[in-house]
Amino acid sequence: RAKSDGRNLYHFFTQEMNDRARTKMVLEQSLHHALTGQQLRLVYQPQIDLRTGQIIGLEALLRWQHPTAGLVSPATFVPLLEETGLIVPVGNWIIKTVCAQRQDWNRRHVLPEDCKIAINISPRQFVDENLARMLRQHLHQHQINPASIELELTENMLMQENEQTLHILHQLHQLAVSLSIDDFGTGYSSFSYIKRFNLDALKIDKSFVDQLAESERDVAIVASIIDLAHNLRMKTIAEGVETKAQLDVLTCLGCDIIQGFYYSPPCQVAELESLISNSMTAGMPLRPNHMPSQAG
Ligand code: C2E
Ligand code: MG
Ligand code: MG
Ligand code: MG
Repeated sequence: RAKSDGRNLYHFFTQEMNDRARTKMVLEQSLHHALTGQQLRLVYQPQIDLRTGQIIGLEALLRWQHPTAGLVSPATFVPLLEETGLIVPVGNWIIKTVCAQRQDWNRRHVLPEDCKIAINISPRQFVDENLARMLRQHLHQHQINPASIELELTENMLMQENEQTLHILHQLHQLAVSLSIDDFGTGYSSFSYIKRFNLDALKIDKSFVDQLAESERDVAIVASIIDLAHNLRMKTIAEGVETKAQLDVLTCLGCDIIQGFYYSPPCQVAELESLISNSMTAGMPLRPNHMPSQAG
């Protein structure tokens, strides 16, 4: 839009920058309200064990129900929470909420024992010195088996193999929570940290899954990630699986777990409970509702 005229360009950018700064300020203020006004909630997306067809895990995903703007995507506001440091109290709330939810599901025998719940940890949260202590406290308070909680970390957090990173990972290992790498292959995929740290799973990023049914290169990449994981006794979770064709390739390559719209989008608690109980009463492994019962 800004033409070759230097002055226009200047005005264009200062205008845009002001708007962005203003937008950010308004967003920041309303995030404070969100925290106190119960506008934040968690939805849960099932993860399916390809061997058994059963739900083996859930990923907790944050949602912001804004009073006027509607449902705001975490892709927009999580970076802002990061920047402002608000991710620390919000992250605390997320961990507490997941633990309380898990305790309620345990009491009501809704979830199988071995079903994990995954929590996304942001970079700022990861380096927060209270993370391990806070986790331990919530796990204890809600009588949660630590192994049933999986923390999703990202590659870039583990890139710096400094004292601090080692110390944090040591603390998390001592807590005995599970650890996975989110969006694997899109950051600094380094063999050094894979060599040094004991991780439970690699989550294969959606960008490698999207063209899996059409692209030999993507098949080669995904096959290599699965081999790498299995050789080091890690599991693989494919993200963003949307089609039967993608599922078939992943099954063929020996992927352990899938997550994606093909099976189910993230669900509210009530919705998820009926999804689970329907599959129980049917007395058979879970199937996505649009999938023929003999398939997959
Ligand atoms: P992520 O951790 O990689 O989460 C996966 C995202 O892919 C989720 O988006 C999920 O709804 C979406 N997804 C799952 N299956 C499919 C599919 O088949 N097709 C497509 N198109 N999308 C699918 P969502 O919930 O919008 O979250 C986006 C990102 O925001 C997350 O990416 C994560 O990085 C961040 N985020 C979400 N919740 C939290 C949280 O509680 N804490 C932190 N720190 N970050 C979060
Ligand atoms: Mg994630
Ligand atoms: Mg992911
Ligand atoms: Mg992703």
